[in-house]
Amino acid sequence: MVIIGAGECGTRAAFALREAGYDGTVTLVGAEAHLPYERPPLSKESMVDPEAPSIKAIADAARLAEHHIDLLGSTSATSIDRANCSIRLTNGSDLDYDKLLIATGSLPRKLPLQGLGLRCLDLRTFDDALAIRAHLHAGSHIAVVGGGFIGLELAASARNLGALVTVIEAQPRILMRGVPAEIAQVVHEAHDAEGVDIICGDGIASIEDDGASVHITLSSGQVVAADLAIIGIGALPVTALAETSGLALNNGIAVDARLRTSDPHIFAAGDCCSFPLAIYGDRRVRLESWRSAQEHGVLAARNMLGAEEAHAAVPWFWSDQYGLTLQIAGLPDEGELTVRRDLDDGAFILFHLKNDGRLVAASGIGPGNAVARDIRLAEMLIGKSARPDAVALASPSTKLKSLLAA
Ligand SMILES: Cc1cc2nc3c(=O)[nH]c(=O)nc-3n(C[C@H](O)[C@H](O)[C@H](O)COP(=O)(O)OP(=O)(O)OC[C@H]3O[C@@H](n4cnc5c(N)ncnc54)[C@H](O)[C@@H]3O)c2cc1C
Repeated sequence: MVIIGAGECGTRAAFALREAGYDGTVTLVGAEAHLPYERPPLSKESMVDPEAPSIKAIADAARLAEHHIDLLGSTSATSIDRANCSIRLTNGSDLDYDKLLIATGSLPRKLPLQGLGLRCLDLRTFDDALAIRAHLHAGSHIAVVGGGFIGLELAASARNLGALVTVIEAQPRILMRGVPAEIAQVVHEAHDAEGVDIICGDGIASIEDDGASVHITLSSGQVVAADLAIIGIGALPVTALAETSGLALNNGIAVDARLRTSDPHIFAAGDCCSFPLAIYGDRRVRLESWRSAQEHGVLAARNMLGAEEAHAAVPWFWSDQYGLTLQIAGLPDEGELTVRRDLDDGAFILFHLKNDGRLVAASGIGPGNAVARDIRLAEMLIGKSARPDAVALASPSTKLKSLLAA
C-alpha cells in the first residue's frame, strides 16, 4: 500500500490500514521535511505562540514505527506508471504498489500578478507560518488579500500580536463562499471591534514591493501600504500526478463514492479530490476540511483493502476567530428556507431547509463551544434526511435530541 502525501488524510489512511488489520507494507511518501502535522493551528493558536509557531504533530516517529509505517520524508512522487503499478520518486527510485492513494492536498491559489516579492506570502505549510510570523508584531501593518477563513484567522492572530490589519476582499462581503450573510456579519463586526479595517468590493490592480514595504493598488485607485501582504484567495487541488497519468479530473481528482479514481488500483482522498455526496443527490463536491480529510483517509484505507464502503459523512467545518467559533454542518447553499435559533450569549444557529422541510445544513456562531452541541445534533438530523418541525427548531427550549428521536 503506497500513499502519496503525508498530510492529514494520507497519515490517517496509513494508520487506518493497520487498524483494519492490514499487515503488509505501508509506505507514506511526503514532500515536506517535517513529521506529519496539523494545519488548522497554523493560522490560529500556533501563530500566536509567544515564542514562534510550533508544530502539532499528527504522529511522531515512535508511533509511525510502532505501526510499521515507512515515512519517506522530503520525498515527492514525480510520476505514476499505471501500466506497471509503480511511482517514481524525487530520489530517482521507483516504488511498486498494489493499491495507491493520492492524498496530495491543495495549495494556495496565486494572484495573477507579476513581481510579487518576499513581502507577499501565503499560508499552507509550517514553513509558511514561520515566514509570516516573522512579520507579525506590535505596530507592523499587515494587509490580508482575501476575506476567506484563512485570511480572517490570520487577521485575528495578527491583531492578537498587536499588528495593524487591513483586509481586502473583492466580493461584496467577507466569507462569500459557503457562509450565510448573517454569520459573516457577526465575523465582520468582531473584526471591526478589534480594529481591523475591512475593505469589501474592491479588487487588486497591482502590488509593488519597494524593498521596504508593499504598496497594494486597489481597483478603485486606493493604495494600501503594508509591511507584509498575506494572500488568502483560496486553494487549488494538487492534481499534477493524476493529470500526467491520465486519471479523470473534475474540480480535483474525480473519484466515486468509494474514493476510487478512474483507475481501480488508485484512490484519491482529502482536499485533492472531488466526490459525489449521496445526501445531496450525488452532487459532486471538493471539500477543504480537516475532519473530511480524516474521514476520507479512513474510508480510502478500508476500500483499498476491498471494503467497498460508500462515503456517507455529512460535511463539517469550523473556524476560530478571537473568542468566536463558527461551525457549519452540511452545505448551506442546498437550503431554500432558513430558520434561526437563538442561544445564550449572542450565539445562534441557522437551520437550512428544503421547501419540503428536509434539513440540509446548519451553521452557527457564538463564543467558545456555544453552538457545538446543537450543530452536532443537527448533523445527525441532516444525515437522517430528517424533516424537523420548523417551530421546534427555532425554539431554544426544544431539545434537538428529542427531534432526533422523533
Ligand atoms: C492554515 C490552515 C488552517 C486551516 N484551518 C482549518 C479549520 O479551521 N477547519 C477545517 O475544517 N479545516 C481547516 N484547514 C483545512 C485542513 O487543514 C485541510 O482540509 C486538510 O489539511 C487537508 O488534508 P489533506 O491530507 O488532503 O492535505 P494536506 O494536509 O495539505 O496534505 C497534503 C500533503 O501532500 C504533500 N504532497 C503534495 N504533493 C506531493 C507529492 N507529489 N509527493 C509527495 N507529497 C506530496 C504535501 O506536501 C502535503 O504535505 C486549514 C488549512 C490550513 C492550511
